Amino acid sequence: MSSSGPVIIAGAGQAGFQVASSLRDEGFAGDVLLIGEEPEFPYQRPPLSKAALEANHNGASVFLRPPKFFEEKKIGLQAGKKVVSIDRAGGSVTTCSGERIPYQHLVLATGTRNRTLDIPGSKTRGVFYLRTIADARGFGEQLERAKRLVIIGAGFIGMEVAATARKRSIDTTVLDIAPRPMARAITAATANFFHNFHSSLGTKIRLGVEVSEIVVENGAAAGVLLQTGERVDADLILVGIGVIANSELASEAGLAVQNGILVDEYLKTEDQNISAVGDCAAFPVRSLGNIRIESVQNATDQARCVAARLAGRVDCYTNVPWFWSDQSTIKLQIVGLVSGHDDVLVAGSPDEACFSAFCFRNGSLVGIESVNRPADHMAGRRLLRHGIPISQDQVEDFKFDVKALEAYARTAALEACP
Ligand SMILES: Cc1cc2nc3c(=O)[nH]c(=O)nc-3n(C[C@H](O)[C@H](O)[C@H](O)COP(=O)(O)OP(=O)(O)OC[C@H]3O[C@@H](n4cnc5c(N)ncnc54)[C@H](O)[C@@H]3O)c2cc1C
Repeated sequence: MSSSGPVIIAGAGQAGFQVASSLRDEGFAGDVLLIGEEPEFPYQRPPLSKAALEANHNGASVFLRPPKFFEEKKIGLQAGKKVVSIDRAGGSVTTCSGERIPYQHLVLATGTRNRTLDIPGSKTRGVFYLRTIADARGFGEQLERAKRLVIIGAGFIGMEVAATARKRSIDTTVLDIAPRPMARAITAATANFFHNFHSSLGTKIRLGVEVSEIVVENGAAAGVLLQTGERVDADLILVGIGVIANSELASEAGLAVQNGILVDEYLKTEDQNISAVGDCAAFPVRSLGNIRIESVQNATDQARCVAARLAGRVDCYTNVPWFWSDQSTIKLQIVGLVSGHDDVLVAGSPDEACFSAFCFRNGSLVGIESVNRPADHMAGRRLLRHGIPISQDQVEDFKFDVKALEAYARTAALEACP
Protein backbone atom coordinates (compact mmCIF):
# COMPACT_ATOMS: atom_id res chain seq x y z
CA MET A 1 0.00 0.00 0.00
CA SER A 2 1.49 3.29 -1.10
CA SER A 3 0.01 5.62 1.48
CA SER A 4 -1.71 5.62 4.80
CA GLY A 5 -5.26 6.82 4.90
CA PRO A 6 -8.81 5.55 4.63
CA VAL A 7 -10.46 3.22 2.19
CA ILE A 8 -11.92 5.70 -0.25
CA ILE A 9 -14.84 4.69 -2.40
CA ALA A 10 -15.43 6.85 -5.47
CA GLY A 11 -19.16 6.59 -6.30
CA ALA A 12 -21.86 6.31 -3.65
CA GLY A 13 -24.38 4.22 -5.59
CA GLN A 14 -25.46 0.61 -5.04
CA ALA A 15 -21.94 -0.86 -5.21
CA GLY A 16 -20.12 1.95 -3.40
CA PHE A 17 -22.58 1.90 -0.52
CA GLN A 18 -22.30 -1.89 -0.27
CA VAL A 19 -18.50 -1.80 -0.08
CA ALA A 20 -18.69 0.62 2.85
CA SER A 21 -21.44 -1.27 4.63
CA SER A 22 -19.81 -4.68 4.09
CA LEU A 23 -16.44 -3.41 5.34
CA ARG A 24 -18.13 -2.73 8.67
CA ASP A 25 -19.94 -6.09 8.59
CA GLU A 26 -16.54 -7.71 8.04
CA GLY A 27 -15.20 -5.97 11.14
CA PHE A 28 -12.99 -3.52 9.25
CA ALA A 29 -12.09 -0.86 11.81
CA GLY A 30 -10.20 1.64 9.64
CA ASP A 31 -11.57 4.85 8.18
CA VAL A 32 -14.04 4.48 5.32
CA LEU A 33 -15.01 7.43 3.12
CA LEU A 34 -17.68 7.35 0.42
CA ILE A 35 -17.44 10.17 -2.11
CA GLY A 36 -20.48 10.53 -4.38
CA GLU A 37 -21.17 12.95 -7.17
CA GLU A 38 -24.93 12.99 -6.54
CA PRO A 39 -26.20 15.20 -3.70
CA GLU A 40 -28.37 12.46 -2.13
CA PHE A 41 -27.62 9.75 0.37
CA PRO A 42 -27.04 6.41 -1.42
CA TYR A 43 -30.21 5.07 -3.00
CA GLN A 44 -31.41 2.21 -5.19
CA ARG A 45 -32.30 2.79 -8.82
CA PRO A 46 -34.69 -0.09 -9.71
CA PRO A 47 -37.81 1.65 -8.33
CA LEU A 48 -37.11 4.71 -10.49
CA SER A 49 -38.50 3.03 -13.60
CA LYS A 50 -41.23 1.15 -11.72
CA ALA A 51 -42.99 1.98 -8.42
CA ALA A 52 -41.66 5.55 -8.23
CA LEU A 53 -43.51 6.42 -11.47
CA GLU A 54 -46.87 4.93 -10.51
CA ALA A 55 -49.82 7.24 -9.96
CA ASN A 56 -50.49 5.81 -6.49
CA HIS A 57 -46.85 5.81 -5.50
CA ASN A 58 -46.86 6.05 -1.72
CA GLY A 59 -43.54 7.87 -1.56
CA ALA A 60 -41.78 4.80 -0.14
CA SER A 61 -38.13 5.58 0.31
CA VAL A 62 -35.61 4.54 -2.29
CA PHE A 63 -32.73 5.29 0.08
CA LEU A 64 -30.56 2.33 1.03
CA ARG A 65 -30.21 3.41 4.68
CA PRO A 66 -31.28 6.36 6.82
CA PRO A 67 -28.66 9.07 7.54
CA LYS A 68 -28.07 7.79 11.10
CA PHE A 69 -26.73 4.51 9.68
CA PHE A 70 -23.67 6.32 8.34
CA GLU A 71 -23.01 7.93 11.70
CA GLU A 72 -23.50 4.71 13.61
CA LYS A 73 -21.23 2.74 11.31
CA LYS A 74 -18.66 5.53 11.17
CA ILE A 75 -18.86 5.70 7.40
CA GLY A 76 -17.80 9.10 6.11
CA LEU A 77 -19.95 10.41 3.28
CA GLN A 78 -19.16 13.34 1.05
CA ALA A 79 -22.24 13.69 -1.15
CA GLY A 80 -22.37 16.10 -4.08
CA LYS A 81 -18.62 15.77 -4.66
CA LYS A 82 -16.99 14.28 -7.69
CA VAL A 83 -13.59 12.60 -7.60
CA VAL A 84 -11.80 14.28 -10.50
CA SER A 85 -8.36 12.68 -10.44
CA ILE A 86 -6.24 9.97 -8.89
CA ASP A 87 -2.59 10.38 -7.98
CA ARG A 88 -1.53 6.74 -7.96
CA ALA A 89 2.09 7.39 -7.07
CA GLY A 90 1.13 9.57 -4.11
CA GLY A 91 -1.91 7.46 -3.14
CA SER A 92 -4.53 10.21 -3.13
CA VAL A 93 -7.62 11.45 -4.94
CA THR A 94 -8.65 15.01 -5.64
CA THR A 95 -12.29 16.07 -5.55
CA CYS A 96 -14.03 18.76 -7.60
CA SER A 97 -13.63 21.16 -4.68
CA GLY A 98 -9.85 20.80 -4.96
CA GLU A 99 -9.48 18.75 -1.79
CA ARG A 100 -6.71 16.13 -1.89
CA ILE A 101 -7.51 13.03 0.18
CA PRO A 102 -4.98 10.24 0.75
CA TYR A 103 -6.13 6.65 0.49
CA GLN A 104 -4.81 3.35 1.62
CA HIS A 105 -7.06 1.58 -0.85
CA LEU A 106 -9.29 3.12 -3.51
CA VAL A 107 -12.45 1.44 -4.77
CA LEU A 108 -13.88 2.76 -8.02
CA ALA A 109 -17.67 2.34 -8.02
CA THR A 110 -18.50 5.02 -10.54
CA GLY A 111 -21.27 3.15 -12.37
CA THR A 112 -22.50 4.19 -15.78
CA ARG A 113 -24.13 7.17 -17.44
CA ASN A 114 -26.86 7.16 -20.06
CA ARG A 115 -25.91 7.00 -23.69
CA THR A 116 -27.37 10.13 -25.21
CA LEU A 117 -29.25 10.59 -28.45
CA ASP A 118 -27.47 12.95 -30.80
CA ILE A 119 -30.00 13.90 -33.46
CA PRO A 120 -31.63 17.24 -34.34
CA GLY A 121 -33.95 18.35 -31.54
CA SER A 122 -32.60 15.89 -28.99
CA LYS A 123 -31.76 18.58 -26.42
CA THR A 124 -35.29 19.97 -26.47
CA ARG A 125 -37.55 20.38 -23.44
CA GLY A 126 -39.69 17.26 -23.10
CA VAL A 127 -36.91 14.78 -23.90
CA PHE A 128 -36.00 12.79 -20.77
CA TYR A 129 -33.56 10.13 -19.60
CA LEU A 130 -33.86 7.98 -16.49
CA ARG A 131 -30.93 7.18 -14.23
CA THR A 132 -30.98 9.36 -11.13
CA ILE A 133 -33.53 10.45 -8.54
CA ALA A 134 -33.47 13.87 -10.19
CA ASP A 135 -34.27 12.29 -13.59
CA ALA A 136 -37.14 10.29 -12.08
CA ARG A 137 -38.60 13.37 -10.37
CA GLY A 138 -38.46 15.42 -13.57
CA PHE A 139 -39.86 12.66 -15.76
CA GLY A 140 -42.46 11.63 -13.16
CA GLU A 141 -43.85 15.17 -13.00
CA GLN A 142 -44.30 15.25 -16.76
CA LEU A 143 -45.89 11.80 -16.74
CA GLU A 144 -48.70 13.22 -14.57
CA ARG A 145 -49.77 15.41 -17.50
CA ALA A 146 -48.65 13.32 -20.47
CA LYS A 147 -51.14 12.10 -23.04
CA ARG A 148 -48.79 10.60 -25.60
CA LEU A 149 -45.46 9.10 -24.57
CA VAL A 150 -42.85 7.95 -27.04
CA ILE A 151 -40.08 5.77 -25.65
CA ILE A 152 -36.95 5.51 -27.77
CA GLY A 153 -35.30 2.20 -26.91
CA ALA A 154 -37.03 -1.09 -26.10
CA GLY A 155 -34.54 -2.16 -23.42
CA PHE A 156 -35.44 -3.01 -19.83
CA ILE A 157 -35.95 0.58 -18.75
CA GLY A 158 -38.03 1.45 -21.81
CA MET A 159 -40.29 -1.58 -21.37
CA GLU A 160 -40.66 -1.09 -17.60
CA VAL A 161 -41.69 2.53 -18.12
CA ALA A 162 -44.06 1.53 -20.93
CA ALA A 163 -45.83 -0.87 -18.54
CA THR A 164 -46.16 1.88 -15.92
CA ALA A 165 -47.39 4.42 -18.46
CA ARG A 166 -50.10 2.05 -19.68
CA LYS A 167 -51.28 1.59 -16.08
CA ARG A 168 -51.88 5.33 -16.22
CA SER A 169 -53.68 4.96 -19.60
CA ILE A 170 -51.10 7.06 -21.40
CA ASP A 171 -50.93 6.45 -25.14
CA THR A 172 -47.51 4.77 -25.34
CA THR A 173 -45.31 3.93 -28.31
CA VAL A 174 -41.95 2.19 -28.02
CA LEU A 175 -39.50 2.54 -30.92
CA ASP A 176 -36.35 0.54 -31.48
CA ILE A 177 -34.00 -0.22 -34.31
CA ALA A 178 -33.61 -3.81 -32.98
CA PRO A 179 -35.89 -6.62 -34.14
CA ARG A 180 -37.12 -7.53 -30.64
CA PRO A 181 -37.64 -5.84 -27.29
CA MET A 182 -34.71 -6.25 -24.86
CA ALA A 183 -32.93 -7.94 -27.77
CA ARG A 184 -29.41 -7.58 -26.38
CA ALA A 185 -30.23 -9.29 -23.11
CA ILE A 186 -32.85 -12.01 -23.53
CA THR A 187 -33.72 -14.91 -25.82
CA ALA A 188 -36.06 -14.57 -28.76
CA ALA A 189 -38.58 -16.82 -26.97
CA THR A 190 -38.84 -14.52 -23.96
CA ALA A 191 -38.64 -11.34 -26.03
CA ASN A 192 -41.55 -12.53 -28.18
CA PHE A 193 -43.59 -13.19 -25.07
CA PHE A 194 -42.93 -9.63 -23.84
CA HIS A 195 -43.76 -8.18 -27.23
CA ASN A 196 -47.18 -9.86 -27.14
CA PHE A 197 -47.72 -9.00 -23.50
CA HIS A 198 -47.01 -5.29 -23.92
CA SER A 199 -49.14 -5.21 -27.06
CA SER A 200 -52.00 -6.70 -25.05
CA LEU A 201 -51.63 -3.81 -22.59
CA GLY A 202 -52.06 -1.39 -25.48
CA THR A 203 -48.44 -0.34 -25.97
CA LYS A 204 -47.55 0.19 -29.61
CA ILE A 205 -44.18 -1.42 -30.28
CA ARG A 206 -42.42 -0.44 -33.49
CA LEU A 207 -39.26 -2.43 -34.15
CA GLY A 208 -36.62 -2.09 -36.86
CA VAL A 209 -37.23 1.66 -36.99
CA GLU A 210 -34.72 4.46 -36.59
CA VAL A 211 -35.51 7.86 -35.14
CA SER A 212 -33.82 10.63 -37.14
CA GLU A 213 -35.16 13.78 -35.49
CA ILE A 214 -37.14 15.10 -32.53
CA VAL A 215 -39.96 17.30 -33.78
CA VAL A 216 -39.94 20.62 -31.93
CA GLU A 217 -43.01 22.85 -31.65
CA ASN A 218 -43.19 25.96 -29.46
CA GLY A 219 -39.81 25.08 -27.95
CA ALA A 220 -40.87 21.64 -26.77
CA ALA A 221 -40.77 18.11 -28.13
CA ALA A 222 -43.91 17.31 -30.10
CA GLY A 223 -42.96 13.97 -31.57
CA VAL A 224 -40.32 12.11 -33.48
CA LEU A 225 -39.52 11.69 -37.13
CA LEU A 226 -38.53 8.24 -38.32
CA GLN A 227 -35.94 7.76 -41.02
CA THR A 228 -38.78 6.82 -43.38
CA GLY A 229 -40.18 10.34 -42.92
CA GLU A 230 -43.08 9.10 -40.81
CA ARG A 231 -43.96 11.26 -37.78
CA VAL A 232 -45.02 9.83 -34.41
CA ASP A 233 -46.63 12.46 -32.17
CA ALA A 234 -45.75 12.78 -28.49
CA ASP A 235 -45.91 15.31 -25.70
CA LEU A 236 -43.29 13.42 -23.70
CA ILE A 237 -40.26 11.47 -24.88
CA LEU A 238 -38.10 9.07 -22.88
CA VAL A 239 -34.75 7.94 -24.26
CA GLY A 240 -33.40 4.62 -22.98
CA ILE A 241 -30.70 3.53 -25.40
CA GLY A 242 -28.13 2.02 -23.09
CA VAL A 243 -25.30 3.23 -20.92
CA ILE A 244 -21.58 3.95 -21.01
CA ALA A 245 -19.25 2.93 -18.18
CA ASN A 246 -17.80 5.83 -16.18
CA SER A 247 -14.20 4.74 -16.64
CA GLU A 248 -12.50 8.07 -17.48
CA LEU A 249 -11.24 8.55 -13.92
CA ALA A 250 -9.41 5.22 -14.23
CA SER A 251 -8.12 5.72 -17.77
CA GLU A 252 -6.83 9.22 -16.98
CA ALA A 253 -4.89 7.64 -14.12
CA GLY A 254 -3.33 5.21 -16.61
CA LEU A 255 -5.39 2.15 -15.68
CA ALA A 256 -6.50 -0.26 -18.40
CA VAL A 257 -10.03 0.25 -19.65
CA GLN A 258 -12.02 -1.73 -22.19
CA ASN A 259 -15.78 -1.21 -22.06
CA GLY A 260 -15.29 -0.64 -18.33
CA ILE A 261 -12.40 -0.62 -15.88
CA LEU A 262 -10.44 -3.85 -16.33
CA VAL A 263 -10.08 -5.90 -13.17
CA ASP A 264 -8.79 -9.38 -12.39
CA GLU A 265 -10.68 -12.23 -10.71
CA TYR A 266 -10.16 -10.48 -7.35
CA LEU A 267 -11.68 -7.27 -8.79
CA LYS A 268 -8.32 -5.53 -8.55
CA THR A 269 -7.16 -3.20 -11.30
CA GLU A 270 -3.57 -3.50 -12.44
CA ASP A 271 -2.77 -1.20 -9.49
CA GLN A 272 -2.87 -3.37 -6.34
CA ASN A 273 -4.21 -0.41 -4.35
CA ILE A 274 -7.20 0.19 -6.59
CA SER A 275 -10.25 -2.04 -7.09
CA ALA A 276 -13.33 -1.52 -9.24
CA VAL A 277 -16.83 -2.90 -8.68
CA GLY A 278 -20.34 -2.81 -10.11
CA ASP A 279 -21.52 -1.40 -13.42
CA CYS A 280 -18.16 0.25 -14.18
CA ALA A 281 -16.02 -2.89 -13.81
CA ALA A 282 -15.12 -5.29 -16.65
CA PHE A 283 -14.19 -8.59 -15.01
CA PRO A 284 -13.00 -11.92 -16.42
CA VAL A 285 -15.45 -14.76 -16.99
CA ARG A 286 -14.20 -18.07 -18.29
CA SER A 287 -15.16 -18.62 -21.95
CA LEU A 288 -16.62 -15.11 -22.32
CA GLY A 289 -13.57 -12.89 -21.72
CA ASN A 290 -14.04 -9.63 -19.84
CA ILE A 291 -17.64 -8.67 -19.29
CA ARG A 292 -19.51 -5.87 -17.58
CA ILE A 293 -22.86 -6.53 -15.92
CA GLU A 294 -25.45 -3.90 -15.07
CA SER A 295 -27.43 -5.34 -12.18
CA VAL A 296 -28.01 -4.86 -8.48
CA GLN A 297 -26.84 -8.41 -7.71
CA ASN A 298 -23.55 -7.92 -9.52
CA ALA A 299 -22.96 -4.55 -7.84
CA THR A 300 -23.68 -5.82 -4.33
CA ASP A 301 -21.90 -9.18 -4.67
CA GLN A 302 -18.76 -7.62 -6.14
CA ALA A 303 -18.82 -5.00 -3.38
CA ARG A 304 -19.03 -7.73 -0.72
CA CYS A 305 -16.16 -9.58 -2.38
CA VAL A 306 -13.87 -6.52 -2.30
CA ALA A 307 -14.86 -5.66 1.28
CA ALA A 308 -13.99 -9.20 2.37
CA ARG A 309 -10.59 -8.92 0.66
CA LEU A 310 -9.86 -5.57 2.30
CA ALA A 311 -10.81 -7.08 5.64
CA GLY A 312 -8.30 -9.86 5.15
CA ARG A 313 -10.25 -12.68 3.47
CA VAL A 314 -9.22 -13.44 -0.07
CA ASP A 315 -11.77 -15.00 -2.40
CA CYS A 316 -11.99 -14.50 -6.10
CA TYR A 317 -15.26 -13.36 -7.64
CA THR A 318 -17.13 -16.29 -9.15
CA ASN A 319 -20.76 -15.47 -8.32
CA VAL A 320 -23.43 -16.48 -10.78
CA PRO A 321 -25.19 -13.35 -12.04
CA TRP A 322 -28.90 -12.89 -11.65
CA PHE A 323 -31.26 -10.08 -12.55
CA TRP A 324 -34.93 -9.19 -12.38
CA SER A 325 -37.27 -6.86 -14.22
CA ASP A 326 -40.85 -6.06 -13.17
CA GLN A 327 -43.18 -5.12 -15.99
CA SER A 328 -46.84 -4.75 -14.97
CA THR A 329 -47.93 -8.15 -13.63
CA ILE A 330 -44.87 -9.91 -15.01
CA LYS A 331 -41.73 -10.68 -13.07
CA LEU A 332 -38.84 -11.67 -15.28
CA GLN A 333 -35.90 -13.27 -13.48
CA ILE A 334 -32.71 -14.21 -15.25
CA VAL A 335 -29.91 -16.32 -13.83
CA GLY A 336 -26.64 -17.05 -15.59
CA LEU A 337 -25.26 -15.56 -18.77
CA VAL A 338 -27.49 -16.46 -21.69
CA SER A 339 -25.44 -14.65 -24.34
CA GLY A 340 -24.02 -17.02 -26.93
CA HIS A 341 -26.53 -19.79 -26.14
CA ASP A 342 -27.14 -22.19 -29.00
CA ASP A 343 -30.29 -23.97 -27.80
CA VAL A 344 -33.35 -23.02 -25.77
CA LEU A 345 -35.93 -25.25 -24.11
CA VAL A 346 -39.14 -23.63 -22.94
CA ALA A 347 -40.85 -25.18 -19.91
CA GLY A 348 -44.31 -24.04 -18.86
CA SER A 349 -46.74 -21.92 -20.79
CA PRO A 350 -46.02 -18.54 -22.41
CA ASP A 351 -49.78 -18.30 -23.14
CA GLU A 352 -50.45 -18.31 -19.41
CA ALA A 353 -47.52 -15.95 -18.69
CA CYS A 354 -45.78 -18.65 -16.67
CA PHE A 355 -42.71 -20.25 -18.23
CA SER A 356 -38.96 -20.56 -18.18
CA ALA A 357 -36.52 -20.55 -21.09
CA PHE A 358 -33.58 -22.86 -20.30
CA CYS A 359 -30.56 -21.79 -22.36
CA PHE A 360 -27.78 -24.18 -23.35
CA ARG A 361 -24.38 -23.68 -24.92
CA ASN A 362 -22.65 -26.81 -26.30
CA GLY A 363 -25.16 -28.90 -24.31
CA SER A 364 -24.44 -27.16 -20.97
CA LEU A 365 -26.98 -25.07 -19.12
CA VAL A 366 -25.76 -21.43 -19.17
CA GLY A 367 -28.82 -19.55 -17.99
CA ILE A 368 -32.55 -19.55 -17.29
CA GLU A 369 -35.07 -16.80 -17.96
CA SER A 370 -38.15 -17.25 -15.81
CA VAL A 371 -41.44 -15.44 -16.29
CA ASN A 372 -43.57 -15.70 -13.16
CA ARG A 373 -41.82 -19.01 -12.29
CA PRO A 374 -39.64 -18.06 -9.30
CA ALA A 375 -39.04 -21.70 -8.31
CA ASP A 376 -37.23 -22.35 -11.62
CA HIS A 377 -35.14 -19.28 -10.99
CA MET A 378 -34.15 -20.39 -7.51
CA ALA A 379 -33.38 -23.91 -8.74
CA GLY A 380 -31.31 -22.39 -11.56
CA ARG A 381 -29.30 -20.34 -9.10
CA ARG A 382 -28.45 -23.51 -7.19
CA LEU A 383 -27.61 -25.50 -10.33
CA LEU A 384 -25.37 -22.83 -11.82
CA ARG A 385 -23.73 -21.81 -8.54
CA HIS A 386 -22.60 -25.39 -7.90
CA GLY A 387 -21.90 -26.18 -11.56
CA ILE A 388 -24.37 -29.08 -11.42
CA PRO A 389 -24.76 -30.55 -14.88
CA ILE A 390 -28.30 -30.90 -16.19
CA SER A 391 -29.07 -32.25 -19.63
CA GLN A 392 -31.72 -31.00 -22.01
CA ASP A 393 -33.51 -34.35 -21.51
CA GLN A 394 -33.62 -33.77 -17.76
CA VAL A 395 -35.08 -30.31 -18.28
CA GLU A 396 -37.66 -31.88 -20.58
CA ASP A 397 -38.52 -34.35 -17.80
CA PHE A 398 -38.82 -31.59 -15.21
CA LYS A 399 -40.79 -29.31 -17.47
CA PHE A 400 -44.11 -29.94 -15.79
CA ASP A 401 -42.70 -30.40 -12.33
CA VAL A 402 -40.85 -27.43 -10.95
CA LYS A 403 -40.75 -28.93 -7.46
CA ALA A 404 -38.87 -31.94 -8.81
CA LEU A 405 -36.34 -29.65 -10.48
CA GLU A 406 -35.87 -27.72 -7.25
CA ALA A 407 -35.46 -30.98 -5.28
CA TYR A 408 -32.91 -32.26 -7.83
CA ALA A 409 -30.95 -29.00 -7.62
CA ARG A 410 -31.01 -29.00 -3.82
CA THR A 411 -29.91 -32.63 -3.50
CA ALA A 412 -27.20 -32.25 -6.13
CA ALA A 413 -25.99 -29.04 -4.48
CA LEU A 414 -25.74 -30.80 -1.11
CA GLU A 415 -23.79 -33.64 -2.72
CA ALA A 416 -21.48 -31.18 -4.50
CA CYS A 417 -20.95 -29.14 -1.35
CA PRO A 418 -21.71 -31.26 1.74
C1 LIG B 1 -34.03 3.24 -13.79
C2 LIG B 1 -33.21 2.01 -13.48
C3 LIG B 1 -33.83 0.80 -13.18
C4 LIG B 1 -33.08 -0.33 -12.90
N1 LIG B 1 -33.73 -1.50 -12.61
C5 LIG B 1 -33.01 -2.60 -12.29
C6 LIG B 1 -33.64 -3.83 -11.95
O1 LIG B 1 -34.88 -3.95 -11.98
N2 LIG B 1 -32.88 -4.88 -11.57
C7 LIG B 1 -31.49 -4.80 -11.52
O2 LIG B 1 -30.82 -5.78 -11.17
N3 LIG B 1 -30.86 -3.65 -11.87
C8 LIG B 1 -31.58 -2.56 -12.24
N4 LIG B 1 -30.94 -1.39 -12.58
C9 LIG B 1 -29.47 -1.38 -12.63
C10 LIG B 1 -28.87 -1.13 -11.25
O3 LIG B 1 -29.48 -0.04 -10.63
C11 LIG B 1 -27.36 -0.90 -11.42
O4 LIG B 1 -26.80 -2.08 -11.96
C12 LIG B 1 -26.69 -0.55 -10.10
O5 LIG B 1 -27.18 0.66 -9.60
C13 LIG B 1 -25.19 -0.46 -10.30
O6 LIG B 1 -24.59 0.01 -9.12
P1 LIG B 1 -23.23 0.84 -9.19
O7 LIG B 1 -22.94 1.28 -7.80
O8 LIG B 1 -22.23 0.11 -9.97
O9 LIG B 1 -23.60 2.14 -10.06
P2 LIG B 1 -24.61 3.33 -9.66
O10 LIG B 1 -25.70 2.84 -8.77
O11 LIG B 1 -24.96 3.92 -10.97
O12 LIG B 1 -23.69 4.32 -8.82
C14 LIG B 1 -22.58 4.98 -9.34
C15 LIG B 1 -22.48 6.32 -8.65
O13 LIG B 1 -21.19 6.85 -8.86
C16 LIG B 1 -21.29 8.24 -9.03
N5 LIG B 1 -20.06 8.71 -9.69
C17 LIG B 1 -19.68 8.55 -10.98
N6 LIG B 1 -18.47 9.10 -11.18
C18 LIG B 1 -18.08 9.61 -9.99
C19 LIG B 1 -16.92 10.30 -9.56
N7 LIG B 1 -15.91 10.55 -10.39
N8 LIG B 1 -16.85 10.71 -8.28
C20 LIG B 1 -17.86 10.45 -7.42
N9 LIG B 1 -18.99 9.81 -7.77
C21 LIG B 1 -19.09 9.39 -9.04
C22 LIG B 1 -22.54 8.38 -9.87
O14 LIG B 1 -23.04 9.70 -9.81
C23 LIG B 1 -23.45 7.36 -9.19
O15 LIG B 1 -24.18 7.93 -8.14
C24 LIG B 1 -31.67 -0.25 -12.90
C25 LIG B 1 -31.03 0.97 -13.22
C26 LIG B 1 -31.79 2.08 -13.52
C27 LIG B 1 -31.09 3.37 -13.89
